[in-house]
Amino acid sequence: MDSTQTTTVSESRPTPQSRRGIDWVNTPFLAGTLLIALIGVPIHLATTGFSWPILALFAFYMAATGLAITGGYHRLFSHQSFQTTSPVRAFLLIFGAAACQNSALKWASDHRLHHLYVDKDRDPYNINEGFFYAHVGWVCLKARPADFSNVQDLQKDPLVRWQHRYYLPLAIGVGGVVPLLFGFLVGDWWGSLLLVGVARTVIVHHSTFLINSLCHFLGAQPYSLEDTSRDSALVALLTYGEGYHNFHHQFQYDYRNGIRWYHWDPTKWMIKILSVAGWATRLRTAQDVHIFKARLAVQRSLASRNLERRPREFRDAMEQKLHLAHEGLVSALAKWEHVKAEYRAAKRSMDDKRRQLAATLETELIAARARFQQAQTSWSMLIDHTGA
Ligand SMILES: [Zn+2]
Ligand SMILES: [Zn+2]
Repeated sequence: MDSTQTTTVSESRPTPQSRRGIDWVNTPFLAGTLLIALIGVPIHLATTGFSWPILALFAFYMAATGLAITGGYHRLFSHQSFQTTSPVRAFLLIFGAAACQNSALKWASDHRLHHLYVDKDRDPYNINEGFFYAHVGWVCLKARPADFSNVQDLQKDPLVRWQHRYYLPLAIGVGGVVPLLFGFLVGDWWGSLLLVGVARTVIVHHSTFLINSLCHFLGAQPYSLEDTSRDSALVALLTYGEGYHNFHHQFQYDYRNGIRWYHWDPTKWMIKILSVAGWATRLRTAQDVHIFKARLAVQRSLASRNLERRPREFRDAMEQKLHLAHEGLVSALAKWEHVKAEYRAAKRSMDDKRRQLAATLETELIAARARFQQAQTSWSMLIDHTGA
């Protein structure tokens, strides 16, 4: 079970956004870094240019801090979609701090609230408060009183406690001082601080902010119509793979956001590489059957919605057909899955008789797959007929 479902949060009413007042640390920092990056980078590019060592450090920091947020703060600490070693956790926490998005503890607490109360008052970046509010406005307002009752599991991790305690020196040291010192070494301290310290922070900030704004605004809803989350390949390109957000809200414990091999999801690839190297274990994934059923449920809801506009007799007849086709498809799928499991078990068996059974099951498997494909075609034709 997902940790976000097992933990509890305070039931007190949240402070309305309008009464929270401006946060005079976050707002000047966000506005100031944005302005310095927008003005400073083009000027430095036109006058001095950026040397290869600085560009290489920029690329490393973009990957390390961005993936520390999506792979560390988000998929590891907020959702526990995999487990990893202490050195990897330490790396993700150190570079996560350098992304200047608060400690992992605070970030994960907010994010678990987002999933639990999505689109409602208690959602810290509720899209119904407006695109700007969900993107950056919520960070510019004073935070609601900290309540870490929903991250008690994370508080047991000494590395998470350490990062929470030393968040500020880590953010300044790794996020700013290291690029500055590197700049002195290669003879362009201002260029390094500007590009690797400031501009990189701004880019990673807004990439993360897009997950709270654009991912609840632009794209399709193939897995759930229950909330505003959306799937968009374009947004995935801008967010280290987090753009498949409708899938993520439906299956938040899955270490992947883009589930097809060709879906742009560098965070998923990083976790997979860690697991191949033996540094990540217990990668959690949603079962294909559950993913398929979620898609079916959405198609069914959209079809019913479309039928509401049609004459009653037609609507009732179609609803009946949809019901039967849905039942047929689900049972064909269950049968296919059952035969598949039996076939695999027989193939793996050391017993000769069981292995011979595999040959019989192979024929049954082909027939079950054909029946499922037939049921799927009937379903798709019916869905097309409703205009969904
Ligand atoms: Zn969301
Ligand atoms: Zn999430």
